[in-house]
Amino acid sequence: MKRAYGCLIAAAVFIGLSVSGGHKRMLPATISQEEQSLETPLTREFFAMNTMIQVEVYDGGKEEALDEAAELIGRLDRLWSVTDENSEVYAMNHHPGVPVPVSGETGELARFSLYMAQETKGAFNTAVYPLVKAWGFTTGQYRIPEDGELGELLSHSHYQEVKLNNGTITLPKQMEIDFGAVGKGYAGDLAAQVLKSHGVRSAILNLGGNVSLIGRNPDKSLWKVGIRSPYGEGTMGTLEAEDCHIITSGGYERYFTGEDGRVYWHILDPETGKPADSGIISATIVGREGKMCDALSTAMFVMGRGRAEEYWRTHEGFEMILVTDDNEIYITEGLEGRFRLSEASRGIPVFVIRREV
Ligand code: AMP
Ligand code: MG
Repeated sequence: MKRAYGCLIAAAVFIGLSVSGGHKRMLPATISQEEQSLETPLTREFFAMNTMIQVEVYDGGKEEALDEAAELIGRLDRLWSVTDENSEVYAMNHHPGVPVPVSGETGELARFSLYMAQETKGAFNTAVYPLVKAWGFTTGQYRIPEDGELGELLSHSHYQEVKLNNGTITLPKQMEIDFGAVGKGYAGDLAAQVLKSHGVRSAILNLGGNVSLIGRNPDKSLWKVGIRSPYGEGTMGTLEAEDCHIITSGGYERYFTGEDGRVYWHILDPETGKPADSGIISATIVGREGKMCDALSTAMFVMGRGRAEEYWRTHEGFEMILVTDDNEIYITEGLEGRFRLSEASRGIPVFVIRREV
């Protein structure tokens, strides 16, 4: 029997998404060198960006390609860490008013983040970091901040005040930023580019549930990616896809239950400084650009279904799967026929969002 892509499935279901080959066939007793490269992926698993990262190359790759991709992700982690005193983000956050020289990757990520903040009318905003800290999501020491405290912190979250200039970034006083909602997506873009530049034609990168797919399965069929159920363990459905990024934001990823019995999750509405309460409990974005998928997964979670649909109709380059708190699933028309509910989710209504209403 064809080996299941074992370690990936086990780990990925746990963190959000699972990927499987979706094809079964008998292994020949002996396999040629060519076939060997198809049957036995080169794999790498390591911890970076606060999550487990797995790279599996099925076709066209060599160890050097994985080394280079892993080295790149490690370097990006060191640039964007909010806690590493040597990171570029740490330097910006701790030297307000001072132009901090940054690498090309950080400059591009900051430029893109500001662009997405503008496009989403602030639903996505990397400057909410002090609020994320105030709720205790960075340390696990959870608390419910008073409205006055939230108001004070919100008054320093105006992303329009960030200055990008000649390879430097300057933050205004009291602002701190964090690329937690977009960095892994961009790392997926850059790591996939590295693999492709080494001739890789079939691979999966899994950055803590953010999945980047290169090409197709080694047997040329589409990859089958499991979308984590927001209701509990396991998948709510599978998506057939190729050569794209699939990124989910979910309230279930990090949350606490307050003394008032309410659940508070880590995705904040930058208008209120409180956990987003938009009616969406999981947003998955599928597209060609990881950084866009990542920023949008967070933004759609904040925007809610109405604004998310409107955004999709007026912007190109992505499809989405939204799950609402009244137990409905909405997929955009580009995913029609490619998303299938899992057995456990049978019965949940799935609606298709169309361009023309
Ligand atoms: P993601 O899993 O990509 O949705 O990213 C969530 C993380 O981004 C959170 O853990 C926060 O660190 C940060 N964050 C929370 N709310 C927002 C927001 N509205 N815009 C940008 N980043 C956010
Ligand atoms: Mg995101």
